[in-house]
Amino acid sequence: MKFSDVVAQHEVKERLVQSAREGRLSHAQLFMGPEGSGSLPMALAFATYLVCEHPGDEDSCGHCPGCLKMSKLVHPDVTFSFPVAALDGIKKPKSADFLPVWRESVLENPYLGYGEWVDALNIQNKQGLIAVEESMDIISRLNLRAYEAPYKIVIMWHADCMNTAAANKLLKVLEEPPGPVVFLLVTEHYDQLLTTILSRLQLVKVNRLPDKDLKQALVERHGLSEEMAKKITHQADGNYNEALSLIGKDHSETDLNQWFLNWMRACYSLNIEAILGISEQLAAGGREMQKMYFLHALQACRECVLINYGDKSMIRTDGNDLEGLTRLAPFINLGNVEKITGEINAAHYHIERNANSKIVFTDLSLSINTLFHVRPVSV
Ligand SMILES: [Zn+2]
Repeated sequence: MKFSDVVAQHEVKERLVQSAREGRLSHAQLFMGPEGSGSLPMALAFATYLVCEHPGDEDSCGHCPGCLKMSKLVHPDVTFSFPVAALDGIKKPKSADFLPVWRESVLENPYLGYGEWVDALNIQNKQGLIAVEESMDIISRLNLRAYEAPYKIVIMWHADCMNTAAANKLLKVLEEPPGPVVFLLVTEHYDQLLTTILSRLQLVKVNRLPDKDLKQALVERHGLSEEMAKKITHQADGNYNEALSLIGKDHSETDLNQWFLNWMRACYSLNIEAILGISEQLAAGGREMQKMYFLHALQACRECVLINYGDKSMIRTDGNDLEGLTRLAPFINLGNVEKITGEINAAHYHIERNANSKIVFTDLSLSINTLFHVRPVSV
């Protein structure tokens, strides 16, 4: 993966290249960004740059042996670490046991989300975990000399899935690596890493993709029309992985808005029958659909706040959809929007981690009912 394969994020790329060229490379870095922002692709591109034999001013060369090995994720000095789970025959799982499926999944889509990864692992409803066996495996690999590159590199994806034992075991090598090592940890959930780990890492923040960059990528990399790219960009909300999953699927904006308005109506009036009906419908659609609906709900809440207080030119909804949201907007306001979106975000997180969608959705609907009755803030 080259930097040019990573969508936009030019400032981050420049900073990384500069740090390598000026020899002020931090040996432990945390790439932090929401799903679909490109934090894993960025770490992969950076690792490629570091092992490249002829790195240029902006990118790796793409054709030296180091680059070619990284393009297949088979470089002997680069260790990949990611959440796994026990399966039949593998009682104490570590990443090395699952490398073929990791390579296949990441090569197919380096922007993949946690949910797609646990699907690929086929671990059903188990949680993916980075356990102490993984840290021990990493340490034993670091004790070997680098074969080809100037450094040994460890890329740990979803580092927040490390349990306490794994994190504690890793602390010492993060502090004092045995020789030239670069740790590139990747996370979507900064707050779930131990502070002792965080204090040893330099933060590389990868922001949600701006609409214009996401839209441009859809047009240039996937040949979508301007109109279709705009529609998907609006739904994907800065998440390139989400945008990829929407290509070729027709989830019209109006359907999503109608669903959201029906749901909000059911929450407001605490119509349990309607809430259960919507929950059945969501459960039948599967996890990716549930995540898409929750993302849409987050956007619709933001639109409501803009309708109430903000700059009207920033509102993206139009036509009948805007009329519906305008009627709802007085009930979603500065007094409760933060809590409502916090609850929806938490539900999105639990769905991604395989929680029972009917329970998550029903609980969420009850919380939103309570929050609807918070008095609005006057401005
Ligand atoms: Zn190269």
